[in-house]
Amino acid sequence: MSNIPDNYDFFRMHEAEQESKLEGRPLCECCEEPIQDDFYYDIGGEIYCEDCMVSCFRKIIE
Ligand SMILES: [Zn+2]
Repeated sequence: MSNIPDNYDFFRMHEAEQESKLEGRPLCECCEEPIQDDFYYDIGGEIYCEDCMVSCFRKIIE
């Protein structure tokens, strides 16, 4: 179990990196979270993330 501190450090570094990356990102209209992907969906000028796009707009044909 000696690898736990290393993993934790890595997680902390990764988390800080993620936070700085998210600065200046557009916010999703629906969940109000910064867009984390390299793309977003623009529906009539409103911005949506992948998750909201799928949950709000994707319809399954039965
Ligand atoms: Zn969203």
